[in-house]
Amino acid sequence: MSNVGKIALEEIKILVTNVFLKQGCNKENASALANTITKAEEDGSSSHGLFRVPGYVASLQSGKVNGHASPKIKQVSPVILKCDADNGFASTAHETSLPLLADAAKKNGISVLSIKGCYHFAALWPETEYLARQNLVGFACTAFKPSVAPAGAKEAFFGTNPISMAWPRSNNEPVVFDMATATMAKGEVMIAARDGHNLPDGVGLGENGEPSNDPKDILKGVLLPFGGYKGSAISMMVELFAAGLTGDVFSYEAQEKDNNDGGPPSGGEFIMALNPEIIADSNWEKHCDDFFQKLLSIDGVRLPGSRRHKNRLGDQYRSINEELLLKVKSFL
Ligand code: NDP
Repeated sequence: MSNVGKIALEEIKILVTNVFLKQGCNKENASALANTITKAEEDGSSSHGLFRVPGYVASLQSGKVNGHASPKIKQVSPVILKCDADNGFASTAHETSLPLLADAAKKNGISVLSIKGCYHFAALWPETEYLARQNLVGFACTAFKPSVAPAGAKEAFFGTNPISMAWPRSNNEPVVFDMATATMAKGEVMIAARDGHNLPDGVGLGENGEPSNDPKDILKGVLLPFGGYKGSAISMMVELFAAGLTGDVFSYEAQEKDNNDGGPPSGGEFIMALNPEIIADSNWEKHCDDFFQKLLSIDGVRLPGSRRHKNRLGDQYRSINEELLLKVKSFL
């Protein structure tokens, strides 16, 4: 197990803002990225917090990502928004476009946002949870680079292709699930390799194409989709939403385009907001709350997102791998 040190969330935010300013971001882009990373650390999404900083920095240093991105939004109909992320990180595109997406769904009942030309290296719950906190149902997905073997195959074709959905609850925390369609997100496998943990069955195949529990071996081989052919089908649909529908690249095309600098590949993201106040019956909220109460009354059940929300209630200090912290500080 690696050494860990304690650091305050505010200190994390200041540190990463300064790192990104030093590494070529303007104020707006550095701040959007720092918010994303600090929120991930606050919630205990550690595979998408400080852990990602070396990759973000690599893609700024290689010139792949535009640290001065100024996303442009086009409203092509009252319910369809298109965002050109200007080759920047997804966080900046989100800060620019999500408020407009929410407004369109509040007015019209539904709205769709397709983001093109962005670099997504984060968790997806920030975008869907943002929508749920505006009393909307949120949906988001994005593709990546080939890392996951489709059902029946031993070679990578799908990205880890995360999907997130969030459900609003005005008297409670929203219900938010956010998951890779791989059995485990690649970042989690990388952390297990760093910390020397074996992985459960079903996460991936090793270099020789056989099932493996060794994260280092799996990183040389291939990840598997969750739930066999069912997860494989959902991963395929993520490719279609995030690339087929947005007009951006599929995972295999992202690979061809990428300079392999260790940062995220370029790609698209599909986000949708639904307004139950317009779509559902007037008692929708009580109806759904009764459903959640019934679900939670079953022994052993918890709601997705509740682990993260509980982490937010703790103190403002987080345990961070010391080597990682030194690495991040070395970018100042
Ligand atoms: P997990 O398997 O850890 O969790 C998936 C979801 O299941 C979460 O919403 C989690 O809620 C919920 N959950 C976990 N355990 C339970 C339980 N016992 N009962 C009910 N719900 C539960 O996530 P992954 O490893 O699949 O993905 C991690 C992150 O990686 C995601 O945030 C994803 O967006 C990100 N990712 C990003 C990519 C990118 O290209 N940008 C690519 C791939 C993944 P809770 O959080 O409360 O535990």
